[in-house]
Amino acid sequence: MSGRTFIQNPGPTNIPERILRAMASPAVDFGTEEFGALLDSSLNRLNHCMANSGPLIGYTSTGHGAWEATVTNLFDVDAPVLLCDSGHFSHRWGEMCEAHGLDVHWFETGWQQGVDPDALREVLSTEAGKKIQGVLVAHTETSTGVTSDLAAIRKVLEDLDHSALLVVDSIASFGCTPLDVDELGVDACLAVSQKGLMMPVGLAFSGISGRAVEVAYANSRHRFYWDWRRRLEVEGYRIFCGTPPIHHLFGLNEALNMFEEEGGIGAVTDRHQRLASAVRATVEAWSSEGAIEFNAVNEHERSDSVTCVRVSADYDANQVIKVAREKYNLTMGSGIGPLAGSAFRIGHLGDLNVPMVLGALGAIETSLRTCRVPVGSGGLEAAAQQLSEASR
Ligand SMILES: *Cc1c(COP(=O)(O)O)cnc(C)c1O
Repeated sequence: MSGRTFIQNPGPTNIPERILRAMASPAVDFGTEEFGALLDSSLNRLNHCMANSGPLIGYTSTGHGAWEATVTNLFDVDAPVLLCDSGHFSHRWGEMCEAHGLDVHWFETGWQQGVDPDALREVLSTEAGKKIQGVLVAHTETSTGVTSDLAAIRKVLEDLDHSALLVVDSIASFGCTPLDVDELGVDACLAVSQKGLMMPVGLAFSGISGRAVEVAYANSRHRFYWDWRRRLEVEGYRIFCGTPPIHHLFGLNEALNMFEEEGGIGAVTDRHQRLASAVRATVEAWSSEGAIEFNAVNEHERSDSVTCVRVSADYDANQVIKVAREKYNLTMGSGIGPLAGSAFRIGHLGDLNVPMVLGALGAIETSLRTCRVPVGSGGLEAAAQQLSEASR
């Protein structure tokens, strides 16, 4: 097909050419002062984007690696943790915790909502709740398009004077939704390269608090590769526990340059908010015919990274995705778990601008119409209106 393909998946996302070019370089000796400076400055700048004053640990891995590292460093076998199960990814994380022998207390929010602070307060106030050592939450649950309110969660912990560590999977929200680690008292903030950071898959991170460092040092669980102590201490191989991912660090450096040129992380998250509002305006207009609705029932929890759209039982969401991919050069995320076949997910994170989002929305509407899914008119007009107001 002529023209370029639009990747509207909620990860991996578009990789800007300048990042690809930065990565297409000869190998270098990672022991040089010059490379050491690039490594340190990239990690420092990234940590700054998280507003974290504690250390940042990096892994040559997927997000699953950051999950595993964080869980095995912070919690010993049998440690009681509260797993906020808000969809596919958080659920999988909980399964991983169980595989590592943690005593997982499942706190289900349902697939259409985030963490309800009042319900959380209740759970943490019980006798079992008082013993919880960690509250694990996905900031944005990518399978549902729901973003939980971290400030409200922190407030519950504060009100209860609860000492649990706050562990946040910000894999889908980092670089898209503001997240101030220090201010929110987040003890571990997890991110990856292939979402908001606009890079290939292969890097993952945990920005950790001073308290998380202490807890990790006191934790006698056997571990080696993922051990933060090793990564914070052993000279030479340090943070990455082995040869640093040199080319990914070239890419990371360039991604951070792009963030800075845009005006810093705040400008980047503002852009995500504007573009996401345009997507929501369109979906709202489409929904007036009754065949389409937002999966996230609470407006304030609708994610700035991904919008999960439900299609009524009379229509096949997978057909819409297939038509978009095969006829109109656009890929989207499919419904996962209970949403399989009945939802599609529009990723709107990473390297995106106004014409890309309008183009994507136009192609998605065309796919819906091709599949004879009734959509309300004025979807694109609503997006254009929303975007123009946001820029005035
Ligand atoms: C993508 C994603 C993950 C998994 O990341 P991988 O790199 O595929 O392991 C975990 N959590 C959330 C919220 C995600 O969006």
